[in-house]
Amino acid sequence: MNKKVAFHTLGCKLNFSETSTIARQVQGEGFERVEFSEKADLYVINTCSVTENADKRFKTIVRQAQRKNPKAFIAAIGCYAQLKPEELASVDGVDLVLGATEKFKLTDYLSNLSKNDFGKIHSCEIEEADFYVGSYAIGDRTRAFLKVQDGCDYKCTFCTIPLARGISRSDTLGNVLKNAREISEKGIKEIVLTGVNIGDYGKGEFGNKRHEHTFLDLVRALDDVPGIHRLRISSIEPNLLKDETISFVAQSKAFVPHFHIPLQSGSNKILKAMRRRYQRELYTERVAQIKSLMPHACIGVDVIVGFPGETDEDFLETYHFLNELEISYLHVFTYSERDNTLAAAMEEVVPQRVRQKRSRMLRALSVKKRRAFYESQLGSVSTVLFEGENKAGYIHGFTENYVKVRAPWNPELVNTLHRVRLQEIDIEGMVRIAFENASVTA
Ligand code: SF4
Repeated sequence: MNKKVAFHTLGCKLNFSETSTIARQVQGEGFERVEFSEKADLYVINTCSVTENADKRFKTIVRQAQRKNPKAFIAAIGCYAQLKPEELASVDGVDLVLGATEKFKLTDYLSNLSKNDFGKIHSCEIEEADFYVGSYAIGDRTRAFLKVQDGCDYKCTFCTIPLARGISRSDTLGNVLKNAREISEKGIKEIVLTGVNIGDYGKGEFGNKRHEHTFLDLVRALDDVPGIHRLRISSIEPNLLKDETISFVAQSKAFVPHFHIPLQSGSNKILKAMRRRYQRELYTERVAQIKSLMPHACIGVDVIVGFPGETDEDFLETYHFLNELEISYLHVFTYSERDNTLAAAMEEVVPQRVRQKRSRMLRALSVKKRRAFYESQLGSVSTVLFEGENKAGYIHGFTENYVKVRAPWNPELVNTLHRVRLQEIDIEGMVRIAFENASVTA
């Protein structure tokens, strides 16, 4: 009888795409994949170093697995495993810890699944993580996360990702296109490009520091892949989002008018202390450029509150900057110290209660911005990609410009694209729609 394996993934789209690829490898060894809530012989937890309380979350997930099967073999992989291998290996129940280079070789460690008293660690100096492994994940049958780049050469003072994932490196353009075609042949209609710093695409494509291709080359080539209706850029640094890329997206066949651009702070003083590679004026230009070519574009913003040295004035500068900017929603992160980062040693620490207060203010601003953006789209006609789940009698979906809509559940709509008119915002903050007569693809 086949052994059973279950996966749990924490963190970003990149982690989900890698879990998917590693799971396919393990299934290739004859394991049967089951849900994490089920009994399994092997539990694999793909960890994240950015998640708040990552350590507590990890321990809770390990206990869940132990409750399901106290004899099960538990493996921890991913970013947190790379940063804190001993810490994870000492957690009761953990048998194996694999860092950035070993996570893709999980199948090499599965011949003997008997429990260990202390987790066996196989990780490396992050400098050795200089090779690239491609991956993609097919989430809910409607969209796929396609990894195109890994690692980062930037030195933002609050960030541990370069320590967890290594230098910036990219998939070959040929391999990205092969994966995109594979995804399209599976009937998936939307691909979300993912990586750590995808605007740096092309660097290290052939194992060196040179850029063989640019992000614009990648975008142009992907736009021609047959059968892919939508391409979404998950997140891109403002200084790497070039005018040419914005112009190309505006007239492209498949790229959708949705940009998620990390800002982190609206104060130039704080941006400098974060060692970000732009000042806020560049961000304003990017937003203006996008809105001039795509007035209906959706713009999402990452912002950190409570960074060391952030005074009330600096925070209000960020607040007013975002309030005046034509953006659509915010992802708000409360600054938390991370070991081995420069920011963790900085003085003028902002008290936790002040960080929480600022975070609440920006989350309220995000609700206001999203509502204003949705209201600006009412009455317009868009194409919605319907998802696969019956959510309390409704089917959900997103327009190209990331407006969330819902309609009465109808299984025939799953994974189909339809022209709809956006009518009104309902109590749940989603948009009710009317179908235009033409069904785009049944
Ligand atoms: S760009 Fe900065 S914040 Fe983003 S992964 Fe690189 S170092 Fe971290």
